[in-house]
Amino acid sequence: MPPVNIPTLNSLQTELNRIFLRQTNVQFSVASGGNFDYHYDTDGDKKLHYDVNLNGKGCYDCQANSELGGLVSAFFADPVRTAWRSDPSSFFAFYVNQISKEGVGGFSIPLRRDLPAIVAVEWPTPKTNGYLENLTAHEFGHILGRGAILTVSGAQIQTPSHNTKSSDYLMYPNNPNGTPCRISRDDWNIMNFVQGSAIPGTVVPNP
Ligand SMILES: [Zn+2]
Repeated sequence: MPPVNIPTLNSLQTELNRIFLRQTNVQFSVASGGNFDYHYDTDGDKKLHYDVNLNGKGCYDCQANSELGGLVSAFFADPVRTAWRSDPSSFFAFYVNQISKEGVGGFSIPLRRDLPAIVAVEWPTPKTNGYLENLTAHEFGHILGRGAILTVSGAQIQTPSHNTKSSDYLMYPNNPNGTPCRISRDDWNIMNFVQGSAIPGTVVPNP
């Protein structure tokens, strides 16, 4: 069953403009991916299964009972969608009713534009207007690089996934019910990463 109450093209465009266009020089242009019918809920729990890898981290298609793997490959099997996917300026957002892991309402992989941001639409308590649009923007913040490993002068730097300084920031973790828009200098430097700009993070030791 498709989710109800998903953002409209307009409401999502407005939120992405409010956040990214004004503060990071990143311009999104929201388009509908069209209708897509696919029965992903193979375990019948009415939630999208949240896959985790051996380190307990969220991932796509890394468990035998993955629902996300089948969903993503079915969606991108269409040649038109494959073309969107091979365009590096494309970002994708999939809206699902719920995600199977308690407390997880959104999901994405840093710098993986070829994988959709997953956003849950149903919550135990009602959310403020614009919450889903804001959560989509938060996930796009990860896809833009927050939480990625970036190569800085030959070293691998793990950037922090979230900005924990204040809940005014878009990249604050586990936002309970607000629509924060602030982008910090660190966010900007990570999302528009160029060699020579200072980014926070820890060096990943060589294996
Ligand atoms: Zn996050």
